[in-house]
Amino acid sequence: MKSSNISEVLNDALEHGRKYISEGNIATYIPELSKVDKNFLGVSIVTTDGKEYHAGDWQQEFTMQSISKTISLIFALEHIGADVIFTKVGMEPSGDPFNSIVKLETKSAMPSNPLINAGAIAVAGLIADRYEFEEFLRFVRLVCGRDTIVVDENVYNSENGAGKLNRSIAYLLQSNGVLEADVEKALSFYFKMCSLNINTFDLANYAAILANGGKDVRSGIQLINKPVLQIVKSLMVTCGLYDGSGEFAIRVGMPAKSGVGGGILALAQNNMGICVFGPALDVHGNSTGGYQILEYLSKELDLHYFS
Ligand code: GLU
Repeated sequence: MKSSNISEVLNDALEHGRKYISEGNIATYIPELSKVDKNFLGVSIVTTDGKEYHAGDWQQEFTMQSISKTISLIFALEHIGADVIFTKVGMEPSGDPFNSIVKLETKSAMPSNPLINAGAIAVAGLIADRYEFEEFLRFVRLVCGRDTIVVDENVYNSENGAGKLNRSIAYLLQSNGVLEADVEKALSFYFKMCSLNINTFDLANYAAILANGGKDVRSGIQLINKPVLQIVKSLMVTCGLYDGSGEFAIRVGMPAKSGVGGGILALAQNNMGICVFGPALDVHGNSTGGYQILEYLSKELDLHYFS
């Protein structure tokens, strides 16, 4: 693919996505997020041969939110191990909203998967009991390729203050014997990872590593092991876009993870990492403009995994 072609398609994709901003709404359940301008829209691509392309508000920082659940899962799989993790969380899509508590009572004591809030809180508890947040942050900085990434304290405090549902989930997990860590310790870790400030370039760098078999696209250093990648990318396919994951798989066809901050990270295997940012969200919590950009890119650049 010629570079001029990718740049051109990216600009067209951005303009296409812009038409869908008005269909979405900002997340307001975290008060600090409701202050963000709904009209931001940006996108970055990093190819596995190390080229980068950007359009729109790609330098605008936003909080990682649920996208961080993929990094905490990788960290936990690398350092604690799949055998321990999957005694605490399942591997199946829940079909419920990301913050649903319902199945923990009606179906299984264990969260359905590590990418919904309940599963990510369970994983955060496992990590928080063994590692300082700073150690996790170092890993985030490494995979995103920027050592100035920090927690947005305003969003962190806002999430912590408004976190009644996540607190309820954590206490239920604890009473079910799934969460062994102290509830506040697990939640503090969880809220911090969700409140990390990044831009689309940071996450496209990380997505490119996922696309590149775990190797940094510039240094060639293996940062994530292949068995771990297989688990995380498979979960991104089945559970990455909340209860909209099935339709996304058909329309876009890339392993992806969204967050209520407006980011969606996606990747085309052996080809490129992509991140879009648009804080106006659909009913599932996925960026309306970002979704459209990814669908446009998938079609125009032939990125669908079954193309
Ligand atoms: N911090 C958010 C929450 O727990 C993450 C949600 C998301 O991005 O899906 O509610």
